[in-house]
Amino acid sequence: MPAMQSQRQNYIGGKWGGAASGRTFSVHSPATGEELEHVPDAGPQDAARAIEAAHRVFPEWSKLAAPERATFLFKARDLMLERKEALARILTAEQGKPLYEARGEIAYAAAFFTWFAEESKRVYGETIPATVPHKRLMVIKQPVGVVAAITPWNFPAAMVTRKIAPALAAGCTVVLKPAEQTPLTAIALFKIFEEVGFPAGVANLITTQDPRGVGREFLENPLVRMIAFTGSTEVGKLLMRGAAEQVKRVSLELGGHAPFIVFDDADLDKAVVGAMASKFRNMGQTCICANRIYVHESVLEAFTAKLVEQVEQLKLGNGLEEGVQVGPLIDEQGFKKVCTHVEDAVAKGARVLTGGQPRTDGPFAQGRFFSPTVLTDIRKGMRILEEETFGPVAPLIAFRDEAEVIQAANDTPYGLAAYFFSQNVSRCIRVAEQLEYGIIGVNDGMPAVPQAPFGGFKESGVGREGGREGIEEFLEVKFISLGL
Ligand code: ADP
Repeated sequence: MPAMQSQRQNYIGGKWGGAASGRTFSVHSPATGEELEHVPDAGPQDAARAIEAAHRVFPEWSKLAAPERATFLFKARDLMLERKEALARILTAEQGKPLYEARGEIAYAAAFFTWFAEESKRVYGETIPATVPHKRLMVIKQPVGVVAAITPWNFPAAMVTRKIAPALAAGCTVVLKPAEQTPLTAIALFKIFEEVGFPAGVANLITTQDPRGVGREFLENPLVRMIAFTGSTEVGKLLMRGAAEQVKRVSLELGGHAPFIVFDDADLDKAVVGAMASKFRNMGQTCICANRIYVHESVLEAFTAKLVEQVEQLKLGNGLEEGVQVGPLIDEQGFKKVCTHVEDAVAKGARVLTGGQPRTDGPFAQGRFFSPTVLTDIRKGMRILEEETFGPVAPLIAFRDEAEVIQAANDTPYGLAAYFFSQNVSRCIRVAEQLEYGIIGVNDGMPAVPQAPFGGFKESGVGREGGREGIEEFLEVKFISLGL
């Protein structure tokens, strides 16, 4: 894509450069299949160099007063907002989401700098009453050290800043490895970090198409003290196992399988708005996307009619075109998974109310497009009820009573986000407390904000990003016992 002005290089110790091997790999548009750029295909050797750079500057960066570090972060925020349009275009070109969503993501991503720059000034310690008169007990918090961050392709900007902002705010230094599908947004963000003038090595970037080699270096290099990861539960487990060897700190944001419950006392119009936002944003490729929509049998018909009407109006296309609301799926693997989930459900008795098919005609021929879909008559045993679909498919399941639906909602190894709609305040509290999930949207289909903790129960992860909690992940607690 000629309009794209990226460095196309990695950023290590304050310098742009290629991989030691000289190898590169190409990045493609998921909408057109067109090749956008070549970027370095870094290996363990490059990762080691980046880790050393981050380690070298750690004493200098961690020693700065919090408001001084915050100044850098505010500057990064300002530049991101100033370049919002250009960043959004790069993001949509490589990731596919509609341009208005990409603009929203850049603003959301920048907001992590604001939030954590402010939080850095509130890393409070504690004094504790001693058991004897001649002692004073103090608790201080200190940065963990070098953080290796690994991010996914579904939010190529926000997942990067949600890790880098709190890490830098806490006084840590970072090596980032973005997803192989979306390295261009990360490169553009690092161009901004260069302009901000962070001391060399504070933030380093390596791109690779072989995440295993770099991942191994992150795990085995003793200079890395923490792994911050967002991605699949499968890779998260692998990293957690690997991190155990040196007892490295981990923060893991993994898969989800969000239930979305519409009770008989819900405001159905609001529930439809919530379901549309939760299900079809980012083509259904978010870990907090509604994956199973449970609707009380008494309102199933009314809710379904309203939902199908909305889904049929969604405009599918290249996210770079204004007005498009649903873009392509990220890659062949993601596309096949959505096709398989729909085929499996239909083969086992589900009915397609709208969509249900890939689109390959005309402008859709070179991309991986799937029509926004609503399925009904969903039953246990269908893959769509057990695995993360990551696509624009809304499966509807009828239910009879509250206890039954809570049990069904909790019947999964995942525990990231859950949603429900009800106008009964007692029910709202009762159900929110019983759902085994880290994020609950009550009459709200879009709960994620920088100032609130984001993270999962069970196999959806360890730790929290965002919120007051988000900076704690990057801090060690030190107890000082002082004898007088
Ligand atoms: P997804 O299925 O959404 O692509 P992944 O967990 O495979 O999720 O990818 C999320 C991130 O993890 C990406 O940056 C990817 O490159 C990285 N990744 C994948 N496999 C490994 C691995 N073995 N070690 C380290 N990182 C990995």
